[in-house]
Amino acid sequence: MRRISSFLAALLIALFLTGISAARAEHPIGRDGCGVATDKSAGLTDALRERAAHSCAAPGSQPGARQWTVIDFETPVGFDAPVSLRTKFTDFSAVAVHVQYADGHWSSRQWDSGIAQRNWIAGGRMTLPLEAGPEGAPVRRIVMSVDDANSSDMLANLTIVPTAQVAAHDYDVALLFALLCGLVAVPILYDLAFLLVLRERFLFWHLAMASCSLFYIFISSGLVVVIFPGIPTSLRWSLHLWSFILAIASAMQFAAHYLTEGGLGRPMRVLIKGAALLALTTGLLLGILDLGAVANYDLLHDTSLGLVLLTCIVALAHGLMRGSRPARFLAAAWSLTLIFFADRWLRAFGFYSAPDWMSYAVYVGLAFETVVTALGVADRFLSIRRDRDHALALARTMEHLADTDPLTGIGNRRAVERRFRNAPRPTALALIDLDHFKHVNDRHGHDIGDLVLKSVARALSTIPRHLAGRMGGEEFALLLYGPDPLADAERLRQAITAHVARDVPGLDSPVTASMGLARLEGGEVFEAACKAADTLLYDAKKSGRNRLYSGHFDYAMRQKAAAEKRSSAAA
Ligand code: GH3
Ligand code: MG
Ligand code: MG
Repeated sequence: MRRISSFLAALLIALFLTGISAARAEHPIGRDGCGVATDKSAGLTDALRERAAHSCAAPGSQPGARQWTVIDFETPVGFDAPVSLRTKFTDFSAVAVHVQYADGHWSSRQWDSGIAQRNWIAGGRMTLPLEAGPEGAPVRRIVMSVDDANSSDMLANLTIVPTAQVAAHDYDVALLFALLCGLVAVPILYDLAFLLVLRERFLFWHLAMASCSLFYIFISSGLVVVIFPGIPTSLRWSLHLWSFILAIASAMQFAAHYLTEGGLGRPMRVLIKGAALLALTTGLLLGILDLGAVANYDLLHDTSLGLVLLTCIVALAHGLMRGSRPARFLAAAWSLTLIFFADRWLRAFGFYSAPDWMSYAVYVGLAFETVVTALGVADRFLSIRRDRDHALALARTMEHLADTDPLTGIGNRRAVERRFRNAPRPTALALIDLDHFKHVNDRHGHDIGDLVLKSVARALSTIPRHLAGRMGGEEFALLLYGPDPLADAERLRQAITAHVARDVPGLDSPVTASMGLARLEGGEVFEAACKAADTLLYDAKKSGRNRLYSGHFDYAMRQKAAAEKRSSAAA
């Protein structure tokens, strides 16, 4: 995290220095312009007449298909190298620049919207060559007209730059944008990899946000023109608008899911989702409905951006006050974007003016946000994994407890039954019941009785391939595996007496056990197998105790059926 922040800080400083060095030779003139609006049949003279008739208005503030800006220089400006007009890229159909020199003559040039692709420069800018050079007369006035513009940005962001400097500056800025694209592409790959294993909603929205941010940086910065030089201006503008709107909407959706799962309440969630909806509605209004006047476009764009900004701040404050960890990640991630958007918003409403290159900071903010939220996503994954591991360990402990007999520590009936069903199937099931155990309790006390039961459990566990379990009271079960279960069962039954004699000395008589063993074919149900073994155990008890009775499963069942028949006949 610290390494990434220092890398981003270095990027920011590089951007700053690039901006400073480029800005030195520049003349920002957009703010000095006086706005006029006409229809498209009006020419330069009409615009100047219109300009003289009214007091000065901000460029783009009046409705009209042809928007003008008139910039007068108090003292004519001469240039010692060829210069160009640099301006922001927006949607438009035609642009014209008229320059009046100190000697009074005019030169005019006009272009269609293709100029935005031919003369693009990185950072969503383009240049228009000015015919004002080293030996020419100083410039007294610049008039620019734009047809069908959907924002005043093109008029308000005019700057005169030395033509030779454009290419060098452009290279630096393009490199920076390529870097930013690379930076944002990494979280996309990482989201895709995570989505394969975990379909969390916030992850999906993070992927959407990162993809839209990447797309926005790619389109808006102008890098798209490197790969698709022929892309129409209006298409590029639509993609620019929609990638931005969708980046904001998915960032809000991401925040709603990411913060909610981190403990944000429902009302906040509704508020954040409302901001996503607001962004989408703004996109629809701006991108699909023709709003006619440029002024409306800017107002709508900046108002809705302001509201989204406000929502972010409220949601973050709410999350931070609740001590939510996701809110802390989001606050860090959004910090730059919030500052830059706040700056853009304040500038849009004319609170102050900042150098034009400040607008690049928005892209850095978006990339920073994508990377830091990706770290937040990774953090969430770690905590999900921690919770899951904890729950798994707990479940395993509970499972073990549920399967264990607390007195003897061997498996209980549940464990025996479960193991019975699993492969490999046992070849025999034996039930063991201690003989006259009540007598042990009565003579030596319950505690000694417990020691005897523990000793029996140990005795029955001496052959590891078989499973011993306590079915309840002084009754045990054995699941026997292998070809000769009978011999092993008898060995274990006799081991009981020896073990108890050694473990619990001082008993007045040896402890013996009776056993019923049912040989199994492999397809029996547990209850039926128990019944068969129990029938045989009953026979062993009846014929004198301390012995093993064995039989095949079906034999035992037949015996039992016959006995039941006899007893019902007798009744
Ligand atoms: P039989 O040979 O017919 O099986 O006689 P028995 O005395 O073993 O059988 P009975 O069913 O009459 O008595 C079982 C005794 O086991 C009664 C009960 O007090 C004792 N018992 C059951 N569970 C425990 C236990 O957890 N600890 C102790 N100490 N005794 C137990
Ligand atoms: Mg019993
Ligand atoms: Mg008994």
